[in-house]
Amino acid sequence: MSHTSAYAALSKTSGLKPFAFERRVIGPTDIKIEILFCGVCHSDIHQVRDEWGGSIYPMVPGHEIVGRVVEAGRAVKKLKVGDLGGVGCMVESCRACESCKAGEEQYCTGDKLVWTYNSLFKDGTPAYGGYSSHIVVDEAFALKISPKLDPAAAAPLLCAGITTYSPLKHWKVGPGQRVGIVGLGGLGHMGLKFAHAMGAEVFQFTTSTSKVSDAKRLGADQVVLTSDPGNFDKLARSFDFILDTVSGVHDVTPYLGLLRRNGSMVLVGVPEKPFAVQAFSLILGRRSLAGSGIGGIRETQEMLDYCADHGIVSEIELTSIQKINEVYERVVKNDVKYRFVIDMQSLAQAT
Ligand code: NAP
Ligand code: ZN
Repeated sequence: MSHTSAYAALSKTSGLKPFAFERRVIGPTDIKIEILFCGVCHSDIHQVRDEWGGSIYPMVPGHEIVGRVVEAGRAVKKLKVGDLGGVGCMVESCRACESCKAGEEQYCTGDKLVWTYNSLFKDGTPAYGGYSSHIVVDEAFALKISPKLDPAAAAPLLCAGITTYSPLKHWKVGPGQRVGIVGLGGLGHMGLKFAHAMGAEVFQFTTSTSKVSDAKRLGADQVVLTSDPGNFDKLARSFDFILDTVSGVHDVTPYLGLLRRNGSMVLVGVPEKPFAVQAFSLILGRRSLAGSGIGGIRETQEMLDYCADHGIVSEIELTSIQKINEVYERVVKNDVKYRFVIDMQSLAQAT
C-alpha cells in the first residue's frame, strides 16, 4: 500500500479538508502517477455537495489529472517511468460489454464502471480522485500527454475537453455548419475552441456580458446574449447543432427553436433538476434533443493528440489546494475564466 495525502469532503456540508489514505500496490498492468495538476470541474462541486444524490464520503474529488509516471508494472506497455500521463473520469469498466468493446467504456452496461471518485471498486474499496499526491491506475484507463502540451493547461482536457470534443465528432460538426455553444464555462470554452477548429461557424451563447470579448478571442464568430429574447427571434431555425454546457437550471425550449430541420441539440451540462420540453419544439422540423457523456479512452487519446497537433489547451487560473473551498464558491458564482487548475505541489505544504 502507498500512503497518499489528499483533500476530501467528509459530508455534503463539510467543505474540503486535508485527508490521508492508502492507494493499492501497483499490479502488473498498473501505473503510478505523481499528480502535478488537477482541474476543478463543476461536477466535482455537484458531487461534493451531493446535488445529484448518492454521494459517497469521504470523497476525494478530481478527474482532470495530469502527472508524471513514477512506477510501472511489469506488463505495462502504454507509458513508461518519466512520461507525462493523464487520468480522466473513469478508472475501470467491464471491458466485455458492447459499449466497452466499441471503445465507449463510459457507457459500460456490465455494471462494473468505476468512476475516478465517488465510486467503488468491485472489492468495495472506494475510488479516490485527483486532489491527491498520486494515483494508481490500470494502464487501460491512463492517457498519454504529449510533451508539446503545457501540462497544467492540458489537465482540463481530460474531462472538459473530451466531453465537448466527443459530441462534436459524433454529430459530425464541420465546415458549412452553424453551431451554437451554450454557456461559456469550463466545458463551454473547450466546445467553442473545438467547434471553431473543426471549421464550423460558431455562435457562443452566454448570460455574461463580461465574457463577450473573450468569446470572440476564443473563436466565436458571433456572441449572443441570452438575456435578450429578440436575439432568439433573429436566429430562429438557423442552427445545425447546439451544445448545451450549462450547469444550472434553464429553459431549453428557446434553443430548440433555433434548430433548422433535422438539427440536434445535445446536453452535456447536468443541472440539479429535471426540466420540461414542449413536444412541438421537436416535432416542427424533426429536431432531436440528445445527451452525451465524456468520451471513451480511445477517443480521449485522439482528442489529446488533436490538441497537441492544433495547439489547443484550456484557459486556466492556477490555484493551490489550500484555496479549494474558495475556488468552489467562485465557480458557483460564475467567477472563473475559464477553468481552475490546482497546482498539486501545494499539497506538500498543506499536510
Ligand atoms: P462551469 O465552468 O461552472 O460553466 C457553466 C456555465 O454555464 C457558466 O460559466 C455559465 O456560462 C453558464 N451558467 C451557469 N448557470 C447558469 C444558469 N442558471 N443559466 C444559464 N447559464 C448558466 O461548469 P463546467 O465545469 O463547464 O460544467 C458544466 C456542466 O457540465 C456541469 O453541470 C457539469 O456537471 C457537467 N458535466 C457534464 C459532463 C458530461 O459527461 N456530460 C462532463 C463534465 C461536466 P455563461 O456565463 O456564459 O452564461
Ligand atoms: Zn468533469
